[in-house]
Order: sequence, then structure tokens, then C-alpha cells
Amino acid sequence: MIEKNDHSESNLRVNYVPVNSKLNWDEYFMLQAMLASYKSKDPNTKVGCVIVDEHHHQISMGYNGTIAGIDETLIPWGNNREVPLEHQKYGYVIHGEANAVSHAKGNLAGARVYVTLFPCNECAKLLASHRVKEIIYLSDKYAESQETRIAKKIFQMSNISYRPLTLSEASLDSLSVYLKMLIKK
Ligand SMILES: [Zn+2]
Repeated sequence: MIEKNDHSESNLRVNYVPVNSKLNWDEYFMLQAMLASYKSKDPNTKVGCVIVDEHHHQISMGYNGTIAGIDETLIPWGNNREVPLEHQKYGYVIHGEANAVSHAKGNLAGARVYVTLFPCNECAKLLASHRVKEIIYLSDKYAESQETRIAKKIFQMSNISYRPLTLSEASLDSLSVYLKMLIKK
């Protein structure tokens, strides 16, 4: 019990309680990239991207989708590459990184890029041209593909570092408990 008029040092310090965040910056922005990927309509590959400045402020966010303003149901969303490009999603889909870059309001020089999948060479060209500083990725499942190998070459030539990030299931479980608590009326 705190006496109202007791202004002793120990009494005044009552609100100085130990605090900490459940998430570090890497986890915080990767979770945002994961959430962005969840919005993608692509039935096979969903990719999210968040671009962040040196002050840990988000500059932009994107996911893979098709051209703004067109009827997305008219796009061939399948991933069969045996038909002409005209009938493949690859002719129409804009990657998450490209969407994040094109929607960015500010300068991307020196920015960190959080992506759920290692960027392809086309996105690597774009990101390097905008002089981003670092790529943080969740999955590198196409590491052996030409696109990923070229992307890594582009990043190395541009002095852009890249590193994987691992999110623990325990932290996702803890987030899930928290989110469920938030929606309780
Ligand atoms: Zn790409």
C-alpha cells in the first residue's frame, strides 16, 4: 500500500518496473513480411516483403500479386511451365519485393529488406539498383536455382549482405496466444 503523500524515493520509484519486448526487430519485421505473404492470392508461392530504414521504421511492404486494377480472376494462376508464357502466371505476377519497391514513398538507400523467400535475380537487380543494404530472409528453398544463384552474385557485387532468420515455433505459439486474447470481447 502506497501512502499518497509519501514522496520518499522508494515510493516514487513504484512505476519503474522491469520491461521487455517479446520480439526483437528482426522477428517483428519478419512477422510483418509473413503477414503480407498471407494476403497473396498465388495458390503455390506466397511471398511477403517489408523494407525498413536504419531507424527501424517501415518504408514499404508488399506481396506477390498481379497488376493493380485488373480483374485477378482472369490471370492463369497455375504454375505449369509447359504451356506458352501467355498462359502462365509468370507472365503476369509482380513479385513481393517489386511491389514493395514500387509502393515505397521514400528513398531505399541503406534499407534492410525482410523477405519470406530469398529474392530472385530480377528482384535482386531492382533492390541493388535502389542501394538497399541488407537482405534478411526466412527460406532459401530455391538455393540451387539459376535465379537465386544470380541474385546472390548481384548482392555480392553490390556489397549487399544477406542472412537467414529463424523464427522459433515457441515465439509463434506465444504470439498466437496473445492474438487470441486480443479478439476476446
Ligand atoms: Zn523476384
